[in-house]
Amino acid sequence: MKARLTVLIVVLLGVIFFGGSIEKNVIVNNSRSGLDVVFGNTEQNYFVEDGSILEDKKMNYKLSPSDLAFLYEGCKRCYYLKVVHGISQPSIPLPAIFSRMAALLKEYYDGKSTKELHPDLPPGRVMYAERYVQSNPIRLAGHNATCFIKGRFDIVVEFEDKTYGVIDFKTGKPNEESLDLYKRQLHAYAYALENPAPGTLKLSPITKMGLLYFYPSKIDQESVESLSYQAQIHWEEIPKDKGWFLEFVDEVLDVLESPQPPAPSPNCQWCGYIDKLKDI
Ligand code: SF4
Repeated sequence: MKARLTVLIVVLLGVIFFGGSIEKNVIVNNSRSGLDVVFGNTEQNYFVEDGSILEDKKMNYKLSPSDLAFLYEGCKRCYYLKVVHGISQPSIPLPAIFSRMAALLKEYYDGKSTKELHPDLPPGRVMYAERYVQSNPIRLAGHNATCFIKGRFDIVVEFEDKTYGVIDFKTGKPNEESLDLYKRQLHAYAYALENPAPGTLKLSPITKMGLLYFYPSKIDQESVESLSYQAQIHWEEIPKDKGWFLEFVDEVLDVLESPQPPAPSPNCQWCGYIDKLKDI
């Protein structure tokens, strides 16, 4: 009862302090000694003492595995604004055909032997398709803030030796630059699976990670009503390196803990568009 009352007081005070505008972003969790209040993509800890709210300065940032690839690489400012302030770029919907293709692939491979995925994979079976993962908070020396991984992988295979592999499907041809970025995404899933938040999926150890590329190469028409695309399949293994990943997270926390957002990317058309509007 006392905990519920405290939760109510914090929410009410939040609404008063923030003019009611935060209401839809507030998630309150009283599982720790204080209260975790989530604003957009960040989480902040508050304590109530003698009727007043004391702010614990420890922020716990939510890191999305896919954002660690292209968004973080493309513009640190946009990444900062999204994670720290919950302000995202206006989204441009992807053509529905891509999500349809991804869904068909996951459906097709769910439960299949790893030999059907690619002959280079050890014996095993696809056990999980499209599941959410969330890690425990990552605490790194030299940082006041913590962060946690939350996202959804494509598939996880269980090998016969009871270890696991995380695999992401990509449409297109591999290139060195994108491999380096996807390496972050796969490591984030692996970290979350091996260090899960309570009540979330735990799979350990993750011994393999990689990308399965599908590149449309040929069309066959079976009838006037049906044709099929053929695709070349390419397996690209990403060596696991937890030390490298934590160094990368350390760099991300440096960016997020900065008191001011980083400078905009000089080539971004969005910021150029906003600047032009200011001149009108
Ligand atoms: S330059 Fe501006 S709009 Fe463009 S990605 Fe960065 S912050 Fe976002």
